[in-house]
Amino acid sequence: MVFENTRTFAQQLDAQDPLRAYKSEFIFPQHNGKNVIYFTGNSLGLQPKRTAQYVQDVMDDWANLAVEGHFYAQKPWWDYHERFCEPLSKIVGALPSEVTVMNTLTVNLHLLMVSFYQPQGQRYKIICEEKAFPSDQYLLQTQVRFHGYEPADAIVEIKRREGEHNIRLEDVLAKIEEVGDALALVFIGGVNYYTGQVFDMQQITAAGHAQGALVGWDLAHAAGNIEMNLHDWQVDFASWCSYKYMNSGPGNASGCFVHEKHHHNKKLHRFAGWWGHNKERRFKMEPDFDPVAGANGWQVSNLPILSLAPYLASVDMFAEVGMPALVAKRNQITAYLEFILQQIDAEVDSTFEVITPKNPIERASQLSVFLHGEGRALFDYLMSNGVITDWREPNVIRLAPVPLYTSYEDMYDFGQILKAGILSKAQ
Ligand SMILES: *Cc1c(COP(=O)(O)O)cnc(C)c1O
Repeated sequence: MVFENTRTFAQQLDAQDPLRAYKSEFIFPQHNGKNVIYFTGNSLGLQPKRTAQYVQDVMDDWANLAVEGHFYAQKPWWDYHERFCEPLSKIVGALPSEVTVMNTLTVNLHLLMVSFYQPQGQRYKIICEEKAFPSDQYLLQTQVRFHGYEPADAIVEIKRREGEHNIRLEDVLAKIEEVGDALALVFIGGVNYYTGQVFDMQQITAAGHAQGALVGWDLAHAAGNIEMNLHDWQVDFASWCSYKYMNSGPGNASGCFVHEKHHHNKKLHRFAGWWGHNKERRFKMEPDFDPVAGANGWQVSNLPILSLAPYLASVDMFAEVGMPALVAKRNQITAYLEFILQQIDAEVDSTFEVITPKNPIERASQLSVFLHGEGRALFDYLMSNGVITDWREPNVIRLAPVPLYTSYEDMYDFGQILKAGILSKAQ
């Protein structure tokens, strides 16, 4: 499609957008009486209007039923988490038995490492990406130390080539082969939080398996953003948070994937709790742990229903929309944003460098823009003019035009504000 940097053209795209009605399903912070332009749904998604009712229902059941709510609430609490299995399995491409919700992301990754990082003899190394999300770096460092290894030896990072912003797939595959028999685990963020690069999870997973290693993914920036087929790709385990693209609220519950092939392996270690115990016998208070078949067998505690309620609201919305429609809009609006950036760059003779891959299959909702020649003042200008982005050192703003609640007209308006910001500084 040939894009135009005009309001009329942006409005035409909005008029043809099958998801346009969803924007009014979200609550936007206000700036001068208008909705902000929200580009940070990759950090904290906006609040859906329907969420309050889901929470209120739990509050009402608690008020009216108290302990009886475990079995007699509108959505009984004792198996509330099972409502997620079907819709979440569609979002990440899994069998319903392979997904569950619990805890928070880094906690879940630690728990999953108990099962899936079991170094033995020469096979103890973990491959990850250079400059992984800090929490993942701390996770891996403390896990290898826990097993008696030194991070500098046990953690192998895949580097970017000199002068390049993204990691090449060929370099990932070569590193996996190089580490070979010493490789216990490949663990990478499916979508890089800084650049927005999407990794080829299928090929990387296969390459890890070819060396006899297990492969897990941190899907914080992938869940609700890209289409995946975790089951078919034979991914061993994965986890994600729900507050980024999945709009479930600050610090909220996480989702987990454990591949079916591991469900009946009694040799896997796990740190167990009563909510992972045989569902029919959970309240019999028996001494020996008998895990539920499937990902639910990794549950530990009785679940925080008040935080699952907003996540359920979100999952219900994703089920209505479906990933294919989301991905179609995501691709077009991201391309339109890229076009707007190029236009403004040319008009004001600035130099923005989009460091996110150009190839549509290597990127998703996020464009990370290196502002050569512009500084933090431009970011501050955007913020004080109703454009919410985020700033990352040294000089990068991340823009995520989330398909559920951003419009093409927002992209046009953003371009105009950006231009005014650069020109105001030049004077
Ligand atoms: C956001 C994010 C996290 C956050 O982890 P929490 O445990 O939910 O605080 C972890 N890893 C990645 C890659 C992230 O993007």
